[in-house]
Amino acid sequence: MDKLTVRDADVAGKRVFVRVDFNVPLEDGKVTDDSRIRASLPTIRYLLGQGARVILASHLGRPDGKVQDGLRLRPVAERLTMLLGRNVPVTGDALGVGTVDAVKRLRNGEALLLENLRFHAEEEKNDPEFAKQLASYADVYVNDAFGTAHRAHASTVGIAKLLPPYAGFLMEREIAVLSRLLEDPARPFAAIVGGAKVSGKLKVLDNLVNKVDVLVLGGGMANTFLLAQGTSVGKSLAEHDMVDEARRVLAAAEKAGVKVILPIDVVVAKEVTRGTEYKTIPAEKVLASWHIVDIGKETLGRMQDALADARTVFWNGPLGVFEIPSFAHGTKAIARFLASRADDGATVVVGGGDSIAAIQQQGLAERFTHISTGGGASLEFLEGRELPGVAVLQDRPADDTEPTGSKSRGKTEATPAGAGRGGRA
Ligand code: ADP
Ligand code: MG
Repeated sequence: MDKLTVRDADVAGKRVFVRVDFNVPLEDGKVTDDSRIRASLPTIRYLLGQGARVILASHLGRPDGKVQDGLRLRPVAERLTMLLGRNVPVTGDALGVGTVDAVKRLRNGEALLLENLRFHAEEEKNDPEFAKQLASYADVYVNDAFGTAHRAHASTVGIAKLLPPYAGFLMEREIAVLSRLLEDPARPFAAIVGGAKVSGKLKVLDNLVNKVDVLVLGGGMANTFLLAQGTSVGKSLAEHDMVDEARRVLAAAEKAGVKVILPIDVVVAKEVTRGTEYKTIPAEKVLASWHIVDIGKETLGRMQDALADARTVFWNGPLGVFEIPSFAHGTKAIARFLASRADDGATVVVGGGDSIAAIQQQGLAERFTHISTGGGASLEFLEGRELPGVAVLQDRPADDTEPTGSKSRGKTEATPAGAGRGGRA
């Protein structure tokens, strides 16, 4: 999958509408994690450097079509202003004469941020009139909001049909890294899937089971697989209506010759709370009144052995209830192990909000090959589905012989540092 990017667009002196994902966590009106803002800086800096007039747009939270003062983008604009070292004003509304006027007054090399798009219900409905109004601000459309690319909204799909659409650098990198996993991973290729529920990850498992050499299952999800193997899991989180599906995945893995690693020992707790009684036991010995809350040491060792020679690893979902420190050992140990695999040159890609949180808590993020900014979007991508926000971007014409990836396109001196063109992959 090769899309035209901002590098292919003629943007000097043009008005460029950039859909970014500034859906960041806020506390008391302050941004508590600005990773998503930082992730879009290469695209914004590049466009400003080219003398474009940049109109940034994002959603924040779920205001469901109503103005909510707590979900205004002012704190985001302030952080962006600080990171860019130049003022980025935010409009009072995504629509209206004031905004039209502010866009008109924008000069080359200047940026502004539209107010939260989801204050208008038309955004999520992909309303054609709303998309038309957004498109009227600009000459060129850039999508750098990979995390929202699985949604067909006015600012991700509607507008992309009205202006020439290009991928931003973050979008380009997400597509490149995730496509590589599906199309051409260095082998052995292993996937580690954990987290809460099988139901949310079934489609990903269905697709990955035909791509990977090793499949490691942990977290609450693995309990349903233990049930499928005939092991009882006591009071553990499990989806009894998914047992047949789990069996199907295991059968598909066996047929494809995929090595599957399931917990053989587990940490069980009386309650899923802090300060409760807990112990490590063999997975087949879970009593009726206990909850599985983490993988045991033997399982961890087995997982590490299975991953030791992997040259590509995709990880989604913690291996235990990592929010409670006593049950975070498996998740934290796998995070450290994968960081060291990446140090050794393996491609290690992580997707999913909670898995990323576990990595960041230990300060390991920099060592991974790629941390996907879009949890839901990256999973849908790995399900093998075409994301609507990606589908509408222009494909690179077949006669354009220089593919996205490691080769230069003759214009690479314009690539900003950190824009990422395959990274260490
Ligand atoms: P991600 O955000 O990385 O995609 P998920 O949202 O699917 O991950 O799952 C994360 C959640 O799974 C965490 O809140 C964690 O507590 C929970 N979890 C992991 N293992 C267990 C378990 N054994 N029992 C209950 N919940 C679990
Ligand atoms: Mg999650």
